[in-house]
Amino acid sequence: MASAAPDSSTASSKEIQCRRKRLRHEENWAKKKWKIAKDKGESYSTSAENQKAAKDLVCLTCQCPFSCSENVDEVEQQRIFQEFYEIGSHDAQNKYLYGLISVMEVKRHTKRKKL
Ligand SMILES: [Zn+2]
Repeated sequence: MASAAPDSSTASSKEIQCRRKRLRHEENWAKKKWKIAKDKGESYSTSAENQKAAKDLVCLTCQCPFSCSENVDEVEQQRIFQEFYEIGSHDAQNKYLYGLISVMEVKRHTKRKKL
């Protein structure tokens, strides 16, 4: 695989010299534009009927034992929301989330009832 790298670079330089096909402008593709808007949490429309609204912060009303809504105030929630959508890439957003997840051991197993 390492030997293929110099070959491809010379091939691409030749390609630029005598290109017969038009260049791809992926940044102008509608689908790419939707994807970028979606990852940034902005509004976009794939068609006249299919309008996607911009992402809006829904304030946390969590009832878990960690009392999240008390520990994380509205300002902090807004900051996290902005930070997440400013990343602007689905892969990077997932990476951000994986960094926050910690695996915990199961504290209690419950037996399943036999049917
Ligand atoms: Zn919670």
